[in-house]
Amino acid sequence: MNIILLGPPGAGKGTQAKKISENYSLPHISTGDMLRENISNNTPLGLRAKSYMSRGELVPDELLITIIKDRLSRSDCSRGFLLDGYPRTIPQADALQMILTESGRKLDVVLNIDVDDEELIKRLSGRRMCACGTSYHVIFNPPEKEGICDTCNGKLYQREDDKADAIRNRLVVYKKQTQPLITYYMKKNILRRIDGSKDISAIFEDIKTVLENYD
Ligand SMILES: [Zn+2]
Repeated sequence: MNIILLGPPGAGKGTQAKKISENYSLPHISTGDMLRENISNNTPLGLRAKSYMSRGELVPDELLITIIKDRLSRSDCSRGFLLDGYPRTIPQADALQMILTESGRKLDVVLNIDVDDEELIKRLSGRRMCACGTSYHVIFNPPEKEGICDTCNGKLYQREDDKADAIRNRLVVYKKQTQPLITYYMKKNILRRIDGSKDISAIFEDIKTVLENYD
């Protein structure tokens, strides 16, 4: 089963990726992990990627595509894979299609975990941090005493990134980037929407129901 997982920040994509990967014994392939792995092993691809990242530049598509191609050719992908964080652009999606076609494979399904913006803002803006490294959530994981760390009695604060306006901006950027991909896979009739407003286990049940058709 060859799967792509899409979802905005706060949709629980990482949690669902882990569950899918374990339940179906599929390698969970994320662009970030692949880059880190190539860099820490000092592979030729890793060295090239590092030269861009150390200058604060984006790793170019052509290099990312080579890294993905290398990863998908390994034996653990012979029964399928779960791609997370790739593709992000239409050229990357086209390249992926070519890589798969060359090796006699195809994408089965693109799962799009969908959550409305207000819910995402509620989830993401509730995070509170303490200088000791402990983090809390005002709704899902509150401290015993409001605004105070259970571990060290420190005063909790909200990161700038977690403020509602910053989150709104992140969501706008995410949508602008992802909408073309959603349209692209919709046209190929392999996009399936997953209601991400439910709780973790209910979302996974819905994913399993969709994946039954491909197993
Ligand atoms: Zn603390």
